[in-house]
Amino acid sequence: MAEKIRLKVKCHACGNQMEGTAKYGKGHYVSEGLDFEFTATGRIIDSTGKARIRGEVVIRCPHCDTRNKYEI
Ligand SMILES: [Zn+2]
Repeated sequence: MAEKIRLKVKCHACGNQMEGTAKYGKGHYVSEGLDFEFTATGRIIDSTGKARIRGEVVIRCPHCDTRNKYEI
């Protein structure tokens, strides 16, 4: 099943707050809010020993149409 990644970011251009989800992995996924485009770049283990996925998300601001890219 696909993993859902929750995101809350600000537009670089207009400061519009954008909230939504991105999909990681294969399988069924229902987006919530805005549908971010996610590309995995690696995996890190945090201090509690839990694996966390790293990657890039891309979203087009619905307010000013600027393409925003974030590292997560
Ligand atoms: Zn914007």
